[in-house]
Amino acid sequence: MSADQRLIDAIDELLPQTQCGKCGYNGCRPYAHAIAVGEADINQCPPGGEAGIRSLAELLGRAPKPLDPSCGSEQYQPTVAWIDEEVCIGCTRCIQACPVDAILGATKLMHTVIRDECTGCELCLAPCPVDCIYMQPVEERVPTQAAVTPARQRVMRMAPRARQRYEFRQFRLERDKAELAEKRRQRKEALRARDQADKKAAIAAAVARVRAKKARQGQVEGR
Ligand code: SF4
Ligand code: SF4
Ligand code: SF4
Repeated sequence: MSADQRLIDAIDELLPQTQCGKCGYNGCRPYAHAIAVGEADINQCPPGGEAGIRSLAELLGRAPKPLDPSCGSEQYQPTVAWIDEEVCIGCTRCIQACPVDAILGATKLMHTVIRDECTGCELCLAPCPVDCIYMQPVEERVPTQAAVTPARQRVMRMAPRARQRYEFRQFRLERDKAELAEKRRQRKEALRARDQADKKAAIAAAVARVRAKKARQGQVEGR
């Protein structure tokens, strides 16, 4: 493992793993990579908040700085998503958007959020075509520490599990993609084999017709 990978791992360990993208990157690890290579600053993660910035500053030997307001603001109260099942049309768009598979449901059936797995990333809100997903406050069970918001306490407590669920989801999506590609390849192969068999059969039939014709001509000439 290169030193850079170790640095990226160390930075990633300090991030909340909600994969919300508010830092401007497609998840926590891409943001960790961007910090490690000097492309991103340490103050771009609203779920990590001021305490997160302090821990990144300490790791990297830099001075802490206020959260970049263009990335959003730090939330005090933790929230989880809630779906109004009376309104939900079962389109599954929220399931596709949730990075930690915290939504249960199937096509044309109502959907439900698993509250204990929801990191509050809000990524399911925008894709819902009927706006039936709401963020609701949730009590944080971890005792309050000084200078750390309950929202940060919750996301950091959930981070190891959120990372696991996110990685499993990535693995599952890759596996499903590979399986689909393999099915398509097999279908294409079967069609090609059928085409070849059809062509062979057509040629064999044509050859048989020609032979039969020649045989008939031979019989006529032999008379
Ligand atoms: S939790 Fe922080 S680092 Fe992770 S994607 Fe969200 S803003 Fe970026
Ligand atoms: S249910 Fe919504 S808010 Fe909760 S983790 Fe999934 S996408 Fe994020
Ligand atoms: S995106 Fe909205 S309507 Fe579609 S399944 Fe999710 S909650 Fe229901």
